[in-house]
Amino acid sequence: PVRVRFAPSPTGPLHIGGVRTALFNYLFAKKHKGTFVLRIEDTDQTRYVAGAEDYIVKALNWCGIPFDEGPNKNEKFGPYRQSERKDLYKKYADQLIESGHAYYAFDTAETLDFHRKDHEAKGKTFIYNWHNRQKLDNSLSLSAEAVQQKLDANEDHVVRFKSPQDETLHLTDMIRGDIEIDTNILDDKVLFKSDGMPTYHLANIVDDHLMQISHVIRGEEWVPSLALHYQLYDAFGWDIPQFAHLPLILKPTGKGKLSKRDGDKMGFPVFPLEWTDAETGAVSAGYKENGYFPEAMVNFLALLGWNPGTEQEIFTLEILSNVFELERVNKGGARFDPDKIKWFNHHYMQEQHDADLAKAYKASHKALADIDIQYIELVVALIKERATFVSDFWELSSFFFVAPKDFDDKAYKKAIKDDTPELMTQLIQKVTTNAEFTIESLQEDIKSWITDNNIGFGKVMMPLRLALVGALQGPDVFDIMFMIGKAETVKRIDTLLA
Ligand code: GLU
Repeated sequence: PVRVRFAPSPTGPLHIGGVRTALFNYLFAKKHKGTFVLRIEDTDQTRYVAGAEDYIVKALNWCGIPFDEGPNKNEKFGPYRQSERKDLYKKYADQLIESGHAYYAFDTAETLDFHRKDHEAKGKTFIYNWHNRQKLDNSLSLSAEAVQQKLDANEDHVVRFKSPQDETLHLTDMIRGDIEIDTNILDDKVLFKSDGMPTYHLANIVDDHLMQISHVIRGEEWVPSLALHYQLYDAFGWDIPQFAHLPLILKPTGKGKLSKRDGDKMGFPVFPLEWTDAETGAVSAGYKENGYFPEAMVNFLALLGWNPGTEQEIFTLEILSNVFELERVNKGGARFDPDKIKWFNHHYMQEQHDADLAKAYKASHKALADIDIQYIELVVALIKERATFVSDFWELSSFFFVAPKDFDDKAYKKAIKDDTPELMTQLIQKVTTNAEFTIESLQEDIKSWITDNNIGFGKVMMPLRLALVGALQGPDVFDIMFMIGKAETVKRIDTLLA
């Protein structure tokens, strides 16, 4: 069965790239009737940020991509926080030492630093591996007694993976295909630290195995770790899951990796939800708080790296869950276009229930506090096709609630001619005598008066629109008249003439 996991480290709010990784995991799981697991990788206690896990869970829920198994939910393979699993990793490190795949290393930070700088000075990179480990302070260079002595004396040490010499590894990635790696360029990575905690590499492999993960879908930045991960699975004698590394998300310019700074500079959020930094109090904007619909975020992120192979752009979560395939994920980076997510938001605005939009609109503007919600709902239906956000509504619809305060200068010059007062007086007459006052009857009455008298539509419609709206834009004038009512319509035409 397909079992995938999203395995964030709770070091801060989840950025858009993390949400994309979670989404692709979710979609792959749904497509294959599998399970989507959330695992919190919090073994690095120095980078732990309070509130981050909570944020991650909230963000996934807001996007509509909840996990099936994870902290406090369906804990079949729990616990799902690595900090709560910490006692379990040591025996796996010990196992690798016994089988000769790993070893103790006692080098101090100063020694390692010295070697690093020494190499740098000679224009080389220091790699801790077969090439020099005999010269360093570890159990491959010391006698068994010396090692035991150090261990008994509780000397600081780590456990390192023993990467082989002169081998070629063959790795497979579902998106990138086959990758060959020469083991001579690999570091003997630390698996277990002196503080008694596993490193990411060990904990990640052990947990993926114990949680029976079938596919590892994660960001491209983990490709360099793939060789080690393959070797770890082999060393333990475990089945290797399939891997898929998702392409980078690029800046709007297409050059380089998207960062939080790009969002700050260009004024778009890089986080799904707002985040307040506990230390500095700085607030980072969120898509949710900025009026984006989760459907827009999901649709937008789905197309960041994945393509359906057709021109289709609109994809709901449900459709995505049927059509998503890792084979259609691109290798190349995906450019982040903040205007595109606005375009999607406009689209999904049209799909929202007017009642929900009306509620949000009413709550967003104090002038609407005492207005009947049904009336607001009718207004929303008339204007939402021109809106991207609920915050656009007031500018598009204030005239349904209050008479325009002034008239746009240019529009005034364009709409008001010498014969306007005379025509408007006649129009008031038409409006006043229209007993039914429905949209249809107004249309019929006014249009036939215009055609019968050969007046020309612009001569009536422009000043009328200006009177009602204050500008030459907006929904159909007959809709507006009907909505604001007879008395208000007459009053506004009067005001224009005054
Ligand atoms: N904890 C890692 C991260 O924060 C997980 C990487 C992986 O999925 O293997 O990205």
